[in-house]
Amino acid sequence: MAAVTAGDEGTGGDVTPGGAPPAGPGRDELLIGLDIGGTKILGVAAGANGRVVAQALAPTPNGGGAAVTEAAAAVVGDLRRRAGGPVTGPVGVGIPGLVDVTRGVVKHAVNLGVDDWFPIGDELAARVGVPVVVDNDVNAAAIGAARVTGHADLVYLGLGTGLAAAAILGGKLRRGAHGAAGEIGHIPVDPAGRRCRCGQVGCLETTASGSAVAEAWPASDLPPARALFDAAAGGDEKAAAVRDRFAARVADAVRLVCLTVDPEVVVLGGGVSQVGERLLAAVARALAEQAADSPFLRSLDLAGRLLLVPADVPVAALGAALLGTTPPGGTRSDGTAPGGTAIGGGTAIGGPALDGPAARP
Ligand SMILES: [Zn+2]
Repeated sequence: MAAVTAGDEGTGGDVTPGGAPPAGPGRDELLIGLDIGGTKILGVAAGANGRVVAQALAPTPNGGGAAVTEAAAAVVGDLRRRAGGPVTGPVGVGIPGLVDVTRGVVKHAVNLGVDDWFPIGDELAARVGVPVVVDNDVNAAAIGAARVTGHADLVYLGLGTGLAAAAILGGKLRRGAHGAAGEIGHIPVDPAGRRCRCGQVGCLETTASGSAVAEAWPASDLPPARALFDAAAGGDEKAAAVRDRFAARVADAVRLVCLTVDPEVVVLGGGVSQVGERLLAAVARALAEQAADSPFLRSLDLAGRLLLVPADVPVAALGAALLGTTPPGGTRSDGTAPGGTAIGGGTAIGGPALDGPAARP
């Protein structure tokens, strides 16, 4: 296991979206959150105020749910050693795939070798000795972004391999009646477009995602988005055209979420966002072009709502840590209710309250 950093990783202070006080563990107790991805497991220990005090990183093993659980437990152990404070609260896990939040089980986490329902909540809890709360990784990232940005009304746009969004509206995470809220990557927008991995044709994800960039601008030595934006900045006209087309499709996604739920801000995150301000500028430019002939769109100032996820804060892992302060349905994976946590009241965890099951393709 390679620990990346352990130390002072400020996350913007005591930002509490929605004005609700941090709930759950005492202020001195540290929370642990894991962002389990296809290639790595990134864990953080954070205070209830959202301040990250330690991080640990390990590669995601092949071999399915049991191997992933073992590696996740090792990251938790590493964080406990590094944290320098009491770490006895629940562990939060953000994981890609279909997540049933109330049962702590995940399905179709293809990158992790998990196909059928796998009870990662119970399995990990048995290994680390504390309750475990599980949610979809994009939901976790939105919760982390809410804490870091101080906005309790936002849409997080995850520009990773695919495209997915998560909405925190009025301080409450919207999972949807079937857990499909935010699956905007699979909204078909082009009948003449390409077949999507979901089976439909012309999904937004086929043009506005990391894999779309990789296909349009293959690169071997750099992440494709970085290679593309570097080439465009260096004067490559073809790259500039590809960049601008991509930015216009991301702008479509921004327009879509803004006209659907009208959030205060839209936070751009995911692997593609690592190109930084250049992405923000390109998308803002595309939004301005789209609004050029529309007084209606101009009046909504979509470009002015764009934020970039901070490069130095692992928002998905942080959001996973904050998950532990307000378990869905008011119970943890061991069936107990945490002391001191506002449950089911619409405000909690210093921001988003959690509702309903989460399930994403
Ligand atoms: Zn699709």
